[in-house]
Amino acid sequence: MHIFTFDIHSRRRDEMIDITERVAKAVADSRIAEGLATVFVPHTTAGVTINENADPDVVHDVLAALDAAVPHERDFYDHHEGNSAAHVKSSLVGVATQVLVRQGRLVLGTWQAIYFCEFDGPRSRQVHVAVTEG
Ligand code: ZN
Repeated sequence: MHIFTFDIHSRRRDEMIDITERVAKAVADSRIAEGLATVFVPHTTAGVTINENADPDVVHDVLAALDAAVPHERDFYDHHEGNSAAHVKSSLVGVATQVLVRQGRLVLGTWQAIYFCEFDGPRSRQVHVAVTEG
């Protein structure tokens, strides 16, 4: 297994950043032709997901829908840091995803991209990519 790590710098509180090319580079650098790429985000107020890269309105709408479902301000939040919504969004979206690797390339649909999801930015973050053969 090869593990690669790269940094992300978010600019807004909520943001989806396309990391497909950086994950693809990790796969290429691993020199593994057939296998699996696992993308893992080691943070409790961020996540990773796969969604559409063609129409930027999709990213906007996903973030808006998450905000509507999990508002930043709620009377019942107890967490002293004041970022409970970001923690909830992280759990809803998840902190890991997997993509098949075939002939040294990510197997993604035409309109799919891998997005780092920031829910408590702006911050510096890390993304780990584990590429396994098999
Ligand atoms: Zn917190």
